[in-house]
Amino acid sequence: MGGSGGAGGGGGSTPCAACKLLRRRCAQECPFSPYFSPHEPQKFACVHKIFGASNVSKMLMEVPENQRADAASSLVYEANARIRDPVYGCMGAISALQQQAQALQAELNAVRHEITRYRQQESASAPAETTTTTPPPSSPPAEQRPSSSSKASPTSTVATSESKDRSYWSPIS
Ligand code: ZN
Repeated sequence: MGGSGGAGGGGGSTPCAACKLLRRRCAQECPFSPYFSPHEPQKFACVHKIFGASNVSKMLMEVPENQRADAASSLVYEANARIRDPVYGCMGAISALQQQAQALQAELNAVRHEITRYRQQESASAPAETTTTTPPPSSPPAEQRPSSSSKASPTSTVATSESKDRSYWSPIS
């Protein structure tokens, strides 16, 4: 029965990347067409290779329509990561970023510790006054610092203001 064949050739609408790859007709209600443009065929090729087309369709249909675009792009990301790193997949990227965040946190803690140490030193040497950190106009270069560190020399305070100028770490995008 049902011989209503799709004889009507598509009126100029190109099939989505999924239907193109699967060699099937891209129907009006195609679950892939809003998310897999024919101009980026490698995106569907990746998710199809890793998850399989029917699983991708199922996963997209299981989420609300307004979140399907995000779901599709996260599936593409995960599939790409799995292809690049067959052992860890996107876990490789996650753990690398976690390690980076830990290292940066440790560095931040060390710098904060240094700052409080310098503040304590400053308040010990100059009790009542809050010291201004403006360096003298003709500050000597670092190589000319005296090798024997004499505590009374004013150049040591210049060195402390130098390390305060460290740029802050920007958050991971
Ligand atoms: Zn389609």
